[in-house]
Amino acid sequence: MTYDFDLIVIGAGSGGLAGAKRAAQYGAKVAIIENDRVGGTCVIRGCVPKKIMSYAAHTADTLADAHGYGFNVDVSFDFKKFAEARNSEIDRLEGLHKTFLDKAGVTLLNGKGVLTGAHEVTIDDQQTITGKYIMLATGGHPTKPPVKGAEHGFISDGVFDLTELPKKMVIVGGGYIGVEFASIFNALGTEVHLVLRRDVMLAGFDQDIRDHLTNELKKRGVIFHCICNTETITPKGKQKLVKLDTGDEILVDEVLFATGRKPNTTCFDIDLPLCDNGAVIVNNKLQTQGEHKHIYAVGDLTDRVNLTPVAIRDGRMIAENLFNDGDFSLDDGDIATAVFSIPPLGTCGLNEALACEEYGEDNIKVFKTTFRPMVNVLPNRDEKMFMKAIYHKKTDKLIGAHLMGRDAPEMVQFIGTCIKAGVTHKQMLQTMPLHPSSAEEFVLLK
Ligand code: NDP
Repeated sequence: MTYDFDLIVIGAGSGGLAGAKRAAQYGAKVAIIENDRVGGTCVIRGCVPKKIMSYAAHTADTLADAHGYGFNVDVSFDFKKFAEARNSEIDRLEGLHKTFLDKAGVTLLNGKGVLTGAHEVTIDDQQTITGKYIMLATGGHPTKPPVKGAEHGFISDGVFDLTELPKKMVIVGGGYIGVEFASIFNALGTEVHLVLRRDVMLAGFDQDIRDHLTNELKKRGVIFHCICNTETITPKGKQKLVKLDTGDEILVDEVLFATGRKPNTTCFDIDLPLCDNGAVIVNNKLQTQGEHKHIYAVGDLTDRVNLTPVAIRDGRMIAENLFNDGDFSLDDGDIATAVFSIPPLGTCGLNEALACEEYGEDNIKVFKTTFRPMVNVLPNRDEKMFMKAIYHKKTDKLIGAHLMGRDAPEMVQFIGTCIKAGVTHKQMLQTMPLHPSSAEEFVLLK
């Protein structure tokens, strides 16, 4: 049987783009279908514009600290100007991704692609193309909880449509997105109310970094509303009145729901086994678990670890296996990850609770340190750095690292390599510390 394409990719986000380009590089005839902007969540309405906002927020901190280093500064912040500059950069990146596709020889088709047969994809109910292999790469979308008046709040995509900095804001949800935007808006000058249904944020993270970050955010002025739910949101002129089930009422300019994401599963009209949360089930080669082994799914659509680098690795792995005689399998263990809060977090491996569960409390060694980084001394900034290392006693191997503070995300990338490589405590202590740095404190932990 002949097909129009060797590979059809539905979704031009991080995973789809990476897979399509890699497959084309090996000579495959590839089509990629996208019904929105090329770049997906990460580039258009996620990691990249968020990181740019985080840089703006850090700039506010740097300016606030400048007096400590002898600078006399008197500046103001033009949010609209900043938002325009950020959006132009996203336009530029989208253009770059289109150019990369073009250069790789990948055919970009605009419209909503739906897998309507085993090898058949229909675009906007009009055009049908066939592919020998199919890669579903449609990612996920943010969700809102069933709150009365939820339509008066926005999801994370809406952050990038703001033309004015909100003076007061409620953020519902204490996951990555809630905590990152709480930090960013707080640093830029917004009064932020963080509404959590539990007593702590960042479920699944090590308890110590959760506590340390909560403490730092409180010091910075983020107002926590814990163990409560949003009951109603009612417009009051240009503002919104948020009622919590504790009886508290908060009048704000904006409400952001950061209450999780769901996989985008409207890209197929054939039977594919799904998990309880609606994600597509895949095996360790990323093959879907229906009757057709040539249909693959990647990234957030499979809801394993919802991170851009995971989706990219997924897309490339499929291309390598199909078009370069590869035999790669998934390896989702010990992924270094960062929360771009202020101060930021970097984490990799097991948290202390999981390490105890897996090895037993008596079989692990835990070392911690808290200190004020040198950079904060002259400006008299009351912000600490926290580091924690967890080693397995029997093998002496590093099995967990949890950092909070400036440059923690940059450090944890390489600590992740140490964990992957099975570096031992002895080897860590033999490593010459780089002085003066914050990173040396991690090497010296004992
Ligand atoms: P998360 O799943 O991380 O967090 C969702 C938050 O919303 C949790 O605090 C959760 O509370 C809360 N929540 C869920 N439902 C409700 C509800 N009905 N009412 C009130 N609160 C609720 O989702 P995010 O949206 O923050 O992020 C989505 C994904 O995006 C993450 O899994 C992450 O992998 C990825 N991401 C990664 C980033 C990075 O790498 N830096 C940055 C941004 C996103 P509870 O804890 O009680 O469940």
